[in-house]
Amino acid sequence: MPASGSSKHGHHARDPSKQGNKVVEYFWYCCRCNYGPFNVNHYSSCTYCSNHNKGPCCQVEKIVRKQS
Ligand SMILES: [Zn+2]
Ligand SMILES: [Zn+2]
Repeated sequence: MPASGSSKHGHHARDPSKQGNKVVEYFWYCCRCNYGPFNVNHYSSCTYCSNHNKGPCCQVEKIVRKQS
């Protein structure tokens, strides 16, 4: 199943990485199975392969979005 974690939206705006009208989000990909992206705020381990913990071995991608 997809793990984008964006199915919920609405009334809890508690993003600590919000700067001005920009939202910075980090997504990571499991180095073992290349599954992803996982939102680092929601997933600290891979849900696909025996909960491999996110670490320096895993690729992290920074996404900057503008918030209207
Ligand atoms: Zn994995
Ligand atoms: Zn890894």
